[in-house]
Amino acid sequence: MTVQPPPGYVAVDAARETLARRRQIRGALRHPLELFTLVVAILASAVILAVGVNAFIDAVIQQRTPNTYATILVLAPVLLWFLRGQLLAKLRVNGVKITPTQYPEAYAMVAEAAREFGLSRVPDAYVVLGNGMINAAASGHGFRRFIFVYSDLFEVGGRLRNPDALRFVIAHEVGHIAAGHASYWRWLGIFASNWIPLIGPALSRSQEYTADNFGYAHCPHGSASAMATLAAGKYLNASIDINAIADRAEQEKGFFVWTVNAAASHPVLAWRAHALRDRSAPGRLLWRPQGPTSLAPPPDYPHLTPGPPR
Ligand SMILES: [Zn+2]
Repeated sequence: MTVQPPPGYVAVDAARETLARRRQIRGALRHPLELFTLVVAILASAVILAVGVNAFIDAVIQQRTPNTYATILVLAPVLLWFLRGQLLAKLRVNGVKITPTQYPEAYAMVAEAAREFGLSRVPDAYVVLGNGMINAAASGHGFRRFIFVYSDLFEVGGRLRNPDALRFVIAHEVGHIAAGHASYWRWLGIFASNWIPLIGPALSRSQEYTADNFGYAHCPHGSASAMATLAAGKYLNASIDINAIADRAEQEKGFFVWTVNAAASHPVLAWRAHALRDRSAPGRLLWRPQGPTSLAPPPDYPHLTPGPPR
């Protein structure tokens, strides 16, 4: 008679294998500039933190009221922990939890992405009221990881007009978790960099390209309709020529285009669509794409085909 392991038990070898797989996938899919921008953001954040803590201590010694920013920086570890806990609590009590019985197709998508990316457990997933807004996000609190999808975005794939678009979005969000973007320590490390104009947004954009790579690796066919939905919403998405948008990444240029991208947390949509179409080079962080930089095999991409030759 063989002894059955208790429920939830994961063999050490299997756990090790899962971790190795996750590392391998991360290494393959991470944007090549993400770790560099992360290190710059951590260093810049540490400088601001040191200045803030110093100012706070000075104010206490001199019995003055500390500067608001200095106070926020000193309280950052608790503040961050509290805000992440609040976010999860709001989802738990206001969101629709995606479970094997509530939106089973979507639950299967979350579970499939988690398994493919080597996560040891399936993240919690929620649908929240979008009120017309198109958005989705991933975060964590303690050891829990979770994603949430705005209802308007969920409806694009929910029951199930375009399941691949939703599959791509869910894989993008689970990809954030697999890539370590939802870690408390990471968020704390870059806490102050969010106040630095170029550095914080550049890191964020590199993370978005990484998450798009996860989405593409899991469901390449969903990326075009996901981008079209981000461009024009859940009703017009079917009539969008996403190739025309991707082409404009190369055509639209100038100082103001540069500043719009440089200040954005997500790559501007044309660049993002271009990066998903041209798999021969990573997405551009600061300078507009100039067309394929190397000869790549034809993309496995029914909706996004390369633009006309120049
Ligand atoms: Zn994202």
